[in-house]
Amino acid sequence: MLELKNYINGTWEAPCSEEYLESLEPATGNPLARVPSSDADDVSLAVAAAQKAFPNWSSLTRQERMMFLWKIAEKIEQQQEALALLESQDTGKPLSLARRMDIPRAVSNLRFFATAIAHEENPCYPTDGKALNYVLYQPLGVVGCISPWNLPLYLFTWKIAPALAAGCTVVAKPSELSPITAYKMAELCHEVGLPQGVLNIVHGLGSKAGNAIVVHPTVKAISFTGGTQTGKVIATAAAPMFKKLSLELGGKNPMIIFADCRLENAVETAITAAFTNQGQICLCASRIFVEKSIYEVFKEQFLSKARALVVGDPLDEKTQLGAVISAAHQQKILSYIALAEKEGGKILCGGSAFHPVGRCANGFFVLPTVIEGLSTTCRTNQEEIFGPVVTIQPFEKEEDVIAWANNTPYGLAASIWTENLTRAHKVATALQSGIVWVNTWLLRDLRTPFGGVKQSGIGREGGWEALRFFTETKNICLGF
Ligand code: NAD
Repeated sequence: MLELKNYINGTWEAPCSEEYLESLEPATGNPLARVPSSDADDVSLAVAAAQKAFPNWSSLTRQERMMFLWKIAEKIEQQQEALALLESQDTGKPLSLARRMDIPRAVSNLRFFATAIAHEENPCYPTDGKALNYVLYQPLGVVGCISPWNLPLYLFTWKIAPALAAGCTVVAKPSELSPITAYKMAELCHEVGLPQGVLNIVHGLGSKAGNAIVVHPTVKAISFTGGTQTGKVIATAAAPMFKKLSLELGGKNPMIIFADCRLENAVETAITAAFTNQGQICLCASRIFVEKSIYEVFKEQFLSKARALVVGDPLDEKTQLGAVISAAHQQKILSYIALAEKEGGKILCGGSAFHPVGRCANGFFVLPTVIEGLSTTCRTNQEEIFGPVVTIQPFEKEEDVIAWANNTPYGLAASIWTENLTRAHKVATALQSGIVWVNTWLLRDLRTPFGGVKQSGIGREGGWEALRFFTETKNICLGF
């Protein structure tokens, strides 16, 4: 079993308490790693190291910071097969998915922000012949980055890369449920000679290690991705300390399919949107609304594809859905399926746990599940399930479907399927959502702002927004 250590001030440290958590391989239920159960003492050491490293790191040239990030990206790329395997073992996701999506995206995140700083512009305002105003973006200092288990290295680097590029030093905590690739990333940072204390990685529980990062007075900002409830706890703790907060939270994302869409594309993408990563992507579609005139045709095609999905050993190349993250999460998903039945829903496919034969017999699997016949306001259609569970329902009027799509506490992502350009613009504008895809899903351009409205979060990641978050904006007015 792998024994992880914290990475503090450029060295590997056991937790001060000597306490460890055990993390399991979701596909088998077997122990996979011993994870430091860090507390406020470990976080204090990490913050002190980051504080010490800040003056030097923030005064490096852009080119120098860029090259460190670029080299880390290169290391990840060189080791992508090994990292994809670890990501798959740690999360239960298909190895093919980790190879195709998670690890390449981690490389892109680092490269994107490495090169972004080389192109940054500072606004300048000549003021009526009397003065010259210009704007500086100065790094905040020590910042905290806290990430979830569903896309471990992908989301960990999505935060760390802009923070480091902006000139901040970082105390980061990956999820205790999938910490291995973050641990490996520390090794790669070490190999490229990242100066001591610039990136510190502390492992452990959110309520202990995570909270200690949030409330540490030296930590100037928290970039958090995770559940909405956790976001509320973090906001409550951090707001009175006037910390900057970026909160990327849950979703209950609608997909709206109009009768004039290219049906084959819509069905194919609906399958991907509902079930990729076992439905455990914050952007997954969990409510599919289909115009009544094509509802039955859509349903038949969608179900036949959902039933054909291969669930099983994540290491098997043929597998399309692996295990969900934990036994507790499996139970949560199954309890929502039971709730859906109680609420009057009809399970059209799936609806239960799955026990593959062989190595993965004790793993935490849930069959892809499609439910119809529910009201738009029932709990199944209002609460985030975060598993391979999707509801489908017919609609007749555009204004109804917009109202239903908007009628949840969330507003992260939506997608619309239509060949009518006017309607696409109109509906996209009316949807309460941080991102709206038209005739596509999960197509991301790293320059675009990313984030949610309502209880899906505050702040935006991506592009300049992410770099700005880790800086303080200053206006200097030079009088003539
Ligand atoms: P979570 O909120 O349980 O945990 C996320 C991280 O926060 C973990 O590292 C955890 O240890 C830490 N944490 C927990 N309590 C904390 C506290 N009190 N203080 C500080 N840190 C704390 O979320 P999860 O179960 O790991 O992830 C799933 C959730 O993340 C889903 O709701 C999903 O929608 C959301 N998510 C959102 C996005 C997005 O971009 N909006 C992306 C991925 C996942």
